[in-house]
Amino acid sequence: MSDCLFCKIAEGEIPSKKVYEDEQIICFHDIEPQAPVHVLIVPKKHIRSLDDLTSEDADLMSHIMLKIKDIASELGLDNGYRTVINTGEDAFQTVKHLHFHILGKRKLTWPPG
Ligand code: AMP
Ligand code: ZN
Repeated sequence: MSDCLFCKIAEGEIPSKKVYEDEQIICFHDIEPQAPVHVLIVPKKHIRSLDDLTSEDADLMSHIMLKIKDIASELGLDNGYRTVINTGEDAFQTVKHLHFHILGKRKLTWPPG
C-alpha cells in the first residue's frame, strides 16, 4: 500500500532498526519504546488489522506466532515478554497495518512501596 508507514519500512523505503526479516515478515525496534526491549513484528503483506484477516492469512499468522519465541530468544528475553496487538480506534491502534508488539525486560514495582 503506497501511503502506509509499515509498508514503506517493509520495502526499505523508510529506515528501521531491523531485528529479523524473511520473505513474509519484518521485525524492528519500536521508535518510541515502552519497555527496555520493544520490537514490532510486521507482515510484509498490507493487512489493516486483525479485523481484516481472512482464511488466506492462516499460514502467515501461524508463521508469525511461531517466530515470536525465536525472536524473543534472539533478543535475550529469557525471563518472559508481553505480546500485544492493538485493533481499531478504541485500542488506540495508531498505525493501520497489522503489527505485533513484543515488550521485554520490564521490572514492575508491585505492590508499590
Ligand atoms: P499501535 O499503537 O499499536 O498502532 O503502535 C504503533 C507503534 O508503532 C507505536 O508503538 C509507535 O511507537 C511505533 N512506530 C511509529 N512509527 C515508527 C517508526 N518509524 N519506526 C518504528 N516504530 C514506529
Ligand atoms: Zn501497510
